Amino acid sequence: MLKKSALLIVLVLIVVVVGWYRFGRVPEPVDRTALIMGTLVEIKIYDQDQSTANHAINAAFEEMSRIEQLMSRHVESSEISLLSRATEPLAVSQETADLIIAGQHIAHLSHGAFDVTLGRLKELWAINSDHPYVPTEAERQQAITGIGPDALRVAGRIVTKSDPALQLDLGGIAKGYAVDRAVALLRKAGITSAAVNAGGDISLIGDHAGQPWRIGIQHPRKQGEVLVTLPLVNRAVVTSGDYERFFERDGIRYHHIFDPMTGAPARLCQSVTVVAADAATADALATAAFVLGPEQGLQLLESEKGVEGLIVALNGTLSKTSGLP
Ligand code: AMP
Ligand code: MG
Repeated sequence: MLKKSALLIVLVLIVVVVGWYRFGRVPEPVDRTALIMGTLVEIKIYDQDQSTANHAINAAFEEMSRIEQLMSRHVESSEISLLSRATEPLAVSQETADLIIAGQHIAHLSHGAFDVTLGRLKELWAINSDHPYVPTEAERQQAITGIGPDALRVAGRIVTKSDPALQLDLGGIAKGYAVDRAVALLRKAGITSAAVNAGGDISLIGDHAGQPWRIGIQHPRKQGEVLVTLPLVNRAVVTSGDYERFFERDGIRYHHIFDPMTGAPARLCQSVTVVAADAATADALATAAFVLGPEQGLQLLESEKGVEGLIVALNGTLSKTSGLP
């Protein structure tokens, strides 16, 4: 009898200790940062020893840099730069062709609010440079002439521009794609609990010590303050905001998300947060919904399966999709 109850006590203790270890204890992560794609990228790994985690992070950072070399319009030898200069149809890698097709898909879904052909517009405003510029109406019109969802044709790996002057910009989707590639490599290395954050493009592997990750979404007008906290497992969450890259002139805020219809920064939102299975989709949809504004943007997010979102309108009003946790 005594033996039996002693055994029971030992069993209960084991269950409690294992449970505490698995669910209660938050281990110290291996946490590293790197500057890639003009953004501070942070990777935190919670479930591996230092050496395994560091090797995996090295591989993930290298992969993200490879994508930058392939797709950034700031890299002269990138396929996107080659395409922008091309006057004839051009064969690119399958990977670049696939991301352009993904961008074109969101472009069609959003009726042109998302647009990977607005490279000239981006150059004109030079928002990211030391000398941003407010263009004239005529300059804006010139920069948006001929752009749009039908301005590119992709057949296999061959990309054809409808106008040789067309310039590409994957800035609204490539960071998300790079995060997805990093996550794929971490998973391949056996990692089951990690977070990748490329300046607000976040993807989460597994959960966090048995609990959902709690991801704080930046308040678009109060720096360093959290607007809402989202409990997430195995999801990507991306925020597009007018506070990320902007300059002010004569009291007007000019930011980096353009409305392809006007050639000026989109005016309807402060920020849009999108939760999806992958970061490339979330990235592009966040930019698209930002341009579309609270009403049409929310409709777009609601209509996509497995996608949830949160929109802060220009006046600060919050709206969200029905399934947002
Ligand atoms: P994000 O921070 O993901 O919203 O992306 C902003 C970046 O995407 C900008 O810096 C531009 O490179 C690009 N971009 C701006 N406006 C658009 C748009 N309407 N559609 C697609 N990409 C855009
Ligand atoms: Mg985006």
